[in-house]
Amino acid sequence: MQTVLVAGGAGFIGSHLCKKLLSEKYKVICVDNLITGNKNNLNDILNNENFTFLEKDITKNFQEDSKLDYIFHLASPASPNKKSPRSYINHPLETLLANSLGTYNLLELAKETSAKFLYASSSEIYGDPKISPQKEDYYGNVNPNGVRSVYDEGKRFGEAITASYVRKGSLDARIIRIFNTYGPFMQADDGRVVSNFINQAILNKPITVYGDGAQTRSFCYVDDMVEGLMLAMFSDKTKGEVINLGSPNERKISELATIIKAITNSRSDIVFEDLPEDDPKVRKPDISKAEKLIGWRPKINIEQGIRNTVEYFKGISI
Ligand code: UDP
Repeated sequence: MQTVLVAGGAGFIGSHLCKKLLSEKYKVICVDNLITGNKNNLNDILNNENFTFLEKDITKNFQEDSKLDYIFHLASPASPNKKSPRSYINHPLETLLANSLGTYNLLELAKETSAKFLYASSSEIYGDPKISPQKEDYYGNVNPNGVRSVYDEGKRFGEAITASYVRKGSLDARIIRIFNTYGPFMQADDGRVVSNFINQAILNKPITVYGDGAQTRSFCYVDDMVEGLMLAMFSDKTKGEVINLGSPNERKISELATIIKAITNSRSDIVFEDLPEDDPKVRKPDISKAEKLIGWRPKINIEQGIRNTVEYFKGISI
């Protein structure tokens, strides 16, 4: 049985990944310091004999003695919403360190144990992109010291150090740029647009569109994302590659509000609030590289994905 370490395994995408890996008969070690992750996300698997949960910080003397075959590094705050206590805006140093020192520690661990490595980068490395769709060879348009820079530059550093280990010949690693992803087990108080809109709609509270809602995002359902991450890790064609994963189906934020309002039969008003600083105007991945290298394309359409997510949020007390 092969062993996989998932850093950030109690987070939204990480917890889905742990469950999927267990169902495919891997032994899973989940490491999370729980500053933005939630152990409740793992309730279904905490007693699984092939699952180990370690509440540890990858930036602080992190060591792991097990023989590892694969390491996924998904450990980082990821929400830009300053109103959320979980956002990277409210955890600036933790975010910078998780992606710099944390990545270094995990890369060293991968080297010691000859594990294959996947670094979860982000569409945020493109900043407020001047070209659309974004292809992997676009260098981006990033404010290097603005409020979002702790995440954007953290992810850019994480890419640089991961690429350096590959270049030195010491590692089999790949960099995956994750675009907006949603689904069950998002944190209700994360401040992300999908969780905010769904919870506002369910409670018939105002749906808060920031700016005029003309900015776009492309939303990928979490099961599709997890499938892409696993294909990227377990493929023999991805060593040293940088690959976008996300949905190419671009929507305006105002349109998302309308979709969610309709699916939930909500009486909510749609209200407009200030646009946060450095909020990207467009975001849409070019996924032709993922299609070619690993045969991946998202399958779940937004209406179905939103319905599943609404069911999840209705089932938990908010
Ligand atoms: N947004 C919004 N209302 C909210 C939360 C977010 O209009 O209650 C907007 C936000 O300004 C951004 C988009 O939705 O333009 C996506 O935000 P999110 O935080 O989900 O992710 P991002 O792609 O910005 O990292």
